[in-house]
Amino acid sequence: MFSSKERFKENFVARLEQREDKESLQTVYSVLTAMVKEWTYDDWEQTNQQYKEQKRKQLYYFSIEFLMGRILGQNLMNLDVHGFVEEGLKELGFDLHAIEELEPEPGLGNGGLGRLAACFMDSLASLQLPGHGCGLRYKGGLFTQVFQDGFQTEQPTVWIDEKEGWGIRREELSLDIPFFGSIEPGIESNRLKPVLKDAEWIKAVPYDYPIVGAAGKTVNTLRLWQAEVSSRPLPKGKPRTLYEQETAEVTDRLYPDASLDAGKILRLKQQYFLCSASLQTIVKNRDCPLSDLARHVAIQINDTHPALAIPELMRILMDEEGMQWEEAWGIVNHTISYTNHTILEEALEKWSSSLLERLLPRIYMIIQEIDRRFKEKTQQEPLDEWQRKKLAIIENGVVHMATLAVVGSYKVNGVAKLHTEILKVREMKELNDHFPHKFHNITNGVAHRRWLLKANPELSSLITSAVGDEWIREPIKLHKLHRFSKDPAFLQDLQAVKIAKKRQLADYIKTHQDIIVDPESVFDAQIKRIHGYKRQLMNILHIQMLYNRILSDRSFRPYPRTFIFGGKAAPSYRYAKEVIKLINTVADQVNNDPLAKKHLHIVFIEDYSVSKAEKIFPASDVSEQISTASKEASGTGNMKFMMNGAITLGTFDGANLEIVEQVGEDNAFIFGLTARQVMQFEKEQSYYPPDIIQHEPDLQLVMAQLLEGSLSDGEGNISAIRNQLVDCNDPFFVLKDIQQYGKAHERLLSAFENSLAWQEMSVVNIAQSGIFSSDRTIQEYSDEVWQLGRVPSNLL
Ligand SMILES: *Cc1c(COP(=O)(O)O)cnc(C)c1O
Repeated sequence: MFSSKERFKENFVARLEQREDKESLQTVYSVLTAMVKEWTYDDWEQTNQQYKEQKRKQLYYFSIEFLMGRILGQNLMNLDVHGFVEEGLKELGFDLHAIEELEPEPGLGNGGLGRLAACFMDSLASLQLPGHGCGLRYKGGLFTQVFQDGFQTEQPTVWIDEKEGWGIRREELSLDIPFFGSIEPGIESNRLKPVLKDAEWIKAVPYDYPIVGAAGKTVNTLRLWQAEVSSRPLPKGKPRTLYEQETAEVTDRLYPDASLDAGKILRLKQQYFLCSASLQTIVKNRDCPLSDLARHVAIQINDTHPALAIPELMRILMDEEGMQWEEAWGIVNHTISYTNHTILEEALEKWSSSLLERLLPRIYMIIQEIDRRFKEKTQQEPLDEWQRKKLAIIENGVVHMATLAVVGSYKVNGVAKLHTEILKVREMKELNDHFPHKFHNITNGVAHRRWLLKANPELSSLITSAVGDEWIREPIKLHKLHRFSKDPAFLQDLQAVKIAKKRQLADYIKTHQDIIVDPESVFDAQIKRIHGYKRQLMNILHIQMLYNRILSDRSFRPYPRTFIFGGKAAPSYRYAKEVIKLINTVADQVNNDPLAKKHLHIVFIEDYSVSKAEKIFPASDVSEQISTASKEASGTGNMKFMMNGAITLGTFDGANLEIVEQVGEDNAFIFGLTARQVMQFEKEQSYYPPDIIQHEPDLQLVMAQLLEGSLSDGEGNISAIRNQLVDCNDPFFVLKDIQQYGKAHERLLSAFENSLAWQEMSVVNIAQSGIFSSDRTIQEYSDEVWQLGRVPSNLL
């Protein structure tokens, strides 16, 4: 690697000279990427070598999503060369920023869960811990969102770049994974061994991606499996073309539509494919006796999508390695741990027994046996029928993956204090009573290197100039900023940085969406997947109420605000797609109204992604975190906003509570029902929205406008919204909370008008955000769950 700008420039120019199309930015991108890859690959080999020599315990993080974002810039940052590479290129007439934007963005995730996995990868390597990712190499990733007449349409995304991409195909590590077929008893070396007959095999080919840690030389591995046609014979009667087509589908796209049966089979195939390929490789490459596996390997399953790791590891230990049930179970139960991400009923994974049995006959047998033994164990406990149901892995022809995950893991964690508490006292009460030591909390975090250092270099320099650069390695040291919370010069500098970031975003919005927004206005952002519980609906209805009032009340001339939305709806989620159409329609009306546009602007940033997020978080004044209390397990967007000095406008939900614990109620705007109140209403079914609407004329008006269809180009475009609000009694309490939400906005707006006081709030938020670095989260996992000892950096 290069220690100076000059050496870098020399080498870069020499390489560029050998290329044909020297002038094009694409060539520059290609040359630079090749150089960074070389620097990385040396350290990568060395890291692997050292892990082997030191026989260090290895962690494998299984996740169906890894939402990595672009890699080039982050690697330059973590290699500590971003500064001089940027300068060197500038002197040669190239803009690094523009070069970085040429990298196709891998979209291998939907949202928070996948981004968490990516932040964890960064923290593991940066803390020099041996932790690797195991996932799938979806050809398409998540779709690209394109608006047509305000409706979301989905276009296929292609991110894989075989030439410049970071992945290395490891053909020699390929293996075949079986599906379908039937189990017959067999004998091998004098013991019974179940034999799978007439299976359909799919080849799993690993692609390894380097994960570069910051300021050290640790390079870990993200291994993504790709499905390909196997050379084994097909089962009788299976047409070759059908097999080829079905095989290609396995890693074609993220989360195929699970509402259809074919989609369900495909999803289950993906899950088993990931678990089986990863586990077989881990067991084969271990450097310890099998009986010692749990002391050498830890496996974390990110939600239940990889929960088949539990029966699959049992299968490997018993069928392939000849172990008895008890010993195998002891190993599985000390190797695998599980993170729960949601309590939303519809998001808890369930599979039909018959489907599982057909696709994975041996795995289903093992799940049945796990269930039988667990039921036997709990038989003595005095439980009523309903409690027994909550302990069943298989019940009424349905396999409950979360129960399987809890029973098979040695630790189960929720992702924020409130969420873990709800798991323990309500959702998984019976399981927690049975396994009181399994459940614990580890609050999520975000990689401050990406979300502050990389996304907001202007703020990072300001922080460093005030308190030094220790915070980059130890984010908790951001505390030192408190000294500046009353320093007018610092507060002004902070405001100048914010304005600069807002200008950059405004330019982006002008270029890409042809909307002019005012950087002096309040930037109020809600960027996340579109979902009922996240309540984008409440946000847009509130904006419409403001608009109505501007038109009807000549004395109401509020301080200008720009409302920023971003997020995708699942293709089959009708309600969420209607919310998108609603936001876009209201945006059109408001942005084009000569009176209203002086006060309100609405921008829906198309195709929300990691790289767009990196532009929005630093430019926001207000962080909208308005989920129905009890529904958002943690949230991580809230933490990224906080780190960038935005003030939280939110409910008492998820990690918002811990943010408020850090900054105090004076430095956030909190409103609405508490989780306890929401759960009480749900239990008593005592919430009836018409009672509320009746007494609120402004709410009556907006509801009338909504229901007549004038906010959505026709009432046909809001039928699912109508169904929720009117026929289903507003299950997310939008109308119950909206007035308090409006009041919180009023408090916030008057606070904004005192700009020094606002910047003071902002400093407190940044200063207290260190605890939300995923470095802290990963250290907790390592100490409490994985027990990965740290090796001092001079050894590496
Ligand atoms: C952080 C992040 C999320 C998660 O946001 P929440 O507000 O926690 O739901 C989703 N998508 C992207 C691209 C992110 O960076």
